[in-house]
Amino acid sequence: MSADPKSVKVHKTSGAGMDIEWKDGHRSSYSFVYLRDACPCALCNEEREKDGREPGNPMKPIAGALPMFKALARPTEVEPVGKYAIRFTWNDGHQHGIFSWEYLREFCPCQECASNRSVRGLAEDMKMHDAKKKPN
Ligand SMILES: [Zn+2]
Ligand SMILES: [Zn+2]
Repeated sequence: MSADPKSVKVHKTSGAGMDIEWKDGHRSSYSFVYLRDACPCALCNEEREKDGREPGNPMKPIAGALPMFKALARPTEVEPVGKYAIRFTWNDGHQHGIFSWEYLREFCPCQECASNRSVRGLAEDMKMHDAKKKPN
């Protein structure tokens, strides 16, 4: 699995998201909403852990509450961080998300990668299960 992008296109003006072609030929396309929900910063990570969400999953609606209108996430600024990452400043003012290529590859939203992730997740659950069963 390559975490080296061959080409990166950010469709900032059209709002269409970001496309990455990796050196191994795999292509990933991310919507900006997906990227915003996958923000790797500590704050967003904590929020997701509270809800038990995977990076990229939308926030769960609060039971009984009316859905709040939220403008669709779009970056106001996009800048490269060295050779290893890309950083987005969002239209909601959030700017701490530095997405490394490795992270982006890991959370590629395509069907194939999504099912690979869930298989790995299950395997990890089972490992945890086994560890609990074993007497020390
Ligand atoms: Zn964040
Ligand atoms: Zn993929």
